[in-house]
Amino acid sequence: MLNLKETKSIVALVGCSDYKLESLKKALSIAFDLIGGIKTIVKPNHKILLKPNIMMPKPPGHPANTHPNLIKAVAELFQEAGGNLSIGESSAGSLAGLTFTAKALSQSGVADLAKSLNVPLINFDLAPVINKKIDNPYVATIPIARSVLEADLVVTMPKLKTHTYGTIITGAVKNCYGMVPGQIKAEFHRRAPEPKKFFSIIRDLFGLVRPKLAIMDAVTAMEGDGPSAGHERQVGFLIVSQDPVAVDVVAAELIGVSARNVLTNKLCAEAGLGAGELDSIDLRGENLREVIIKDFKLPTNKIRNPLIYQLTINLTKKKPEINHKICKLCNICKDSCPLQAISQKNEKMVIDYEVCIRCFCCSEVCPVQACRPKWEHLLGELVSRIISSRW
Ligand code: SF4
Ligand code: SF4
Repeated sequence: MLNLKETKSIVALVGCSDYKLESLKKALSIAFDLIGGIKTIVKPNHKILLKPNIMMPKPPGHPANTHPNLIKAVAELFQEAGGNLSIGESSAGSLAGLTFTAKALSQSGVADLAKSLNVPLINFDLAPVINKKIDNPYVATIPIARSVLEADLVVTMPKLKTHTYGTIITGAVKNCYGMVPGQIKAEFHRRAPEPKKFFSIIRDLFGLVRPKLAIMDAVTAMEGDGPSAGHERQVGFLIVSQDPVAVDVVAAELIGVSARNVLTNKLCAEAGLGAGELDSIDLRGENLREVIIKDFKLPTNKIRNPLIYQLTINLTKKKPEINHKICKLCNICKDSCPLQAISQKNEKMVIDYEVCIRCFCCSEVCPVQACRPKWEHLLGELVSRIISSRW
């Protein structure tokens, strides 16, 4: 058992330039060896739940989602080691939920993959849940898919992506939010609208589910206005550790972001849930300093220096805006809005900004990126462009 207080968290950073099955298996084998060997991770007949990040219905290889070949490579290696696997997810969106997760699993190729592997695929929106109490001022109980709580080993498999809402990247910790079924995810945004409050819920959820392994898909990543409206970027790595927080720390530093500026890292480290900085990590494999990506594009509402951020935060606010020319009137954003701030009027989706809490759930779920975060003040964009584009 990892003792985070006494030992450094071991993280493997291993090169992998493509999604060929043999490339992925080779990189994974190296990574598992670097963190202690697959036999220390997988025990025969243990129930193993793989939790990829299948955020939205997009074809295999889209940077919003964990690549299905990585899930396949992990599943086959773990099956060979005697593990008893299942794959589970509740995608973003959701009321949507009942159909949206199913659609995301189908279009991403994960449903077919599970069938070919003969592995149960659990749509968390439709599966039994257990309500767990948490010690959090905004949420007293949180529903978690029962299969997560009953697994011997939960593996969080995030995609490396930027995130426009309050934290700079989304990774192994935030991926646990998809263990909470359905639209309640949007309700938590409503109850805790500010990022610090909202991510305190994510921290407490993470503390409950505590995945014992994290495998980050950073072969390609999403840069810019992630986690859904950014652009694909070749990165070329897998990041693996038994400490998911440490995986997010390495991921942040890899794309040139100071790990302590990522809210999930900070909150989890303060709560003793993982290593929140490089000094607490035994990094094996690639030399991080030599592979840092210096021009990785961060969300456009982020500013590099926290002090400058404090000074300009009021100028650099964003709001969701709908491009009516490409909007398909599918109503997914309306169904996903925790405040019912979106309605359809005269063949147009309309946002009530008096009600909107800027959670950007609508932007996350829009299947055609018609709903995007936009600057509220032109001056804010100007200030932000001048003083920063990165932390
Ligand atoms: S309209 Fe506002 S409150 Fe509703 S989902 Fe979009 S950002 Fe969140
Ligand atoms: S903005 Fe996007 S999610 Fe909302 S109705 Fe239009 S296409 Fe659908």
